[in-house]
Order: sequence, then C-alpha cells, then structure tokens
Amino acid sequence: MKFRYISDNHIHTDCSFDGKDPATMMCEKAVRLGFYAITITDHCECNEYIEKKFAESVRQSWFETRKAAAIFRDRLHVLSGVELGQPLQAQDCAKEVVESFDFDFVLGSLHNIQGEPDFYFLDYSTINLIDYLRRYFDEILDMIEWGCFDSLAHITYPLRYAVAAGIEPPVEYFLQRSDEVLRKLIEKGIGLELNTSKIRLIQDGKLPDVEILRRYYEYGGRYVTIGSDAHRWPDVGFGVEAGMEILHRIGYRRFTVFVRHEPKMIPIE
Ligand SMILES: [Zn+2]
Ligand SMILES: [Zn+2]
Repeated sequence: MKFRYISDNHIHTDCSFDGKDPATMMCEKAVRLGFYAITITDHCECNEYIEKKFAESVRQSWFETRKAAAIFRDRLHVLSGVELGQPLQAQDCAKEVVESFDFDFVLGSLHNIQGEPDFYFLDYSTINLIDYLRRYFDEILDMIEWGCFDSLAHITYPLRYAVAAGIEPPVEYFLQRSDEVLRKLIEKGIGLELNTSKIRLIQDGKLPDVEILRRYYEYGGRYVTIGSDAHRWPDVGFGVEAGMEILHRIGYRRFTVFVRHEPKMIPIE
C-alpha cells in the first residue's frame, strides 16, 4: 500500500539535547520521501526547565522551524511543535512554554515519574514494575486532566526498556490502566500518538500498541497522530507507513495532524 499523504509528527532536531541535525535537513529528507507534512517537536523536559535552559532551546527550535517553513513552503507543510515532558512536575514552566509560542502541536510525554529517573535508566531487574506503572498511569491521568497538550506521546514508553532488559511486561495490567487513559483522552478531545520508533517490537507484538489503538478506536477515539521520533535525518519517517498500515487494518480511515491545535483529519489512502 502506497499512501498519498504521509506525515511525520514527532521529529527532533539539533535543538534537542539528543538530536543531531538541523530542522532544514530533517525537512529536506521529508521532501525527498515525498511527505505531505512534518512537525518539529523538540524536547522541553519541564522538570529540568531552569537548570537545562529549555526556555532557550525551545525558542531556538521554534525559530528554526519557522525558517524551515519559509524555505520549504512550496514543497512541504512544516508545522511547529514541542514535546512537553513531565508538565505536571513544573506546571508553571509548562504553561509558560505552551503560551509563549503559537505552536501547531504540543505532544504530552512522561519520560520519568515524579522523583524517579527516566525509564531508560531504570534497573528493571530490581524494581517493582507494577508499582512504577501504577504511578506512571496515575501521573498520565493527572496530565490529561490538566489537558494543555494535543496528543499523548508513546504510551508504551516504560515497557520498551522492560522488553529490552528481557523482562516479560505485565500486559494485562498495562491494558487495564490504558483503558482509563483512552477514555479520558476521548472525553477531553486529546489525541493518541502511534510512535513508530519501535515499530518492529509493535509489529512483533512485544509492545501492546496495536491492542491499545484497537481499543481507542472501539471506544470512539479517532485522533491518532503518527511520529517516528527521529533524532537524526536518516530516521525521518521511520516506520510511519508501517504504522499507517496498522491503523488501516484496525479500521481507521484517517489519521490526525494538528494545525494551530486543531485536529485535521488526513485520509489513509
Ligand atoms: Zn519522548
Ligand atoms: Zn521524542
């Protein structure tokens, strides 16, 4: 299946501490792939907002995105966004960022639960994973209640590293808590991201994203955003078409791109 409209709505540039290439390079790659749109979503880790000077890097990212949008205006829709990490751990900072720029898209993320390191750094052989997941979902539900973002990023983030550490993830518990999240997202009109950076684990069923997307659809959710989470130009669009095929198989006929925080429905065809 070759798609008419392809859009990658989770992209990091060198304005992220872990990004490698400038926005224009990411756009150039998207043009070469024949994409319809991309959204630049550099990091703003709210819990480290002051010490890591995110006010500066987010401002730079926004400016570089505007520049790229001007350069590519006849070839690609370049949308400006931010990946807002742990917003409730520094709510004033999160609010300041969201209100200071006329972003198209705010992705809400939770990379670490309050008072704990990033899931990436946890030693899964020693922690009580269910306890961590309980706190993860509690904080995500509070984030959705707060509501100042357009789509929830990579819901299975904590499980990636459990799988990588060879731990069997507690899928039943995860799905049960995901249900609460999905219903609340729908109630609030907030989208759900299909993050395709781990598309192979998703396709192999090692991460339960397909089942979560199926349930979101069944409960009436339609605002699925798709993003590769690319941190360097070769990864732009990684897994996006495979992700669209998954959505189509579930029954979705459109995916969502946020423009000025408004959901635009793009056909999957
Ligand atoms: Zn993230
Ligand atoms: Zn990201």
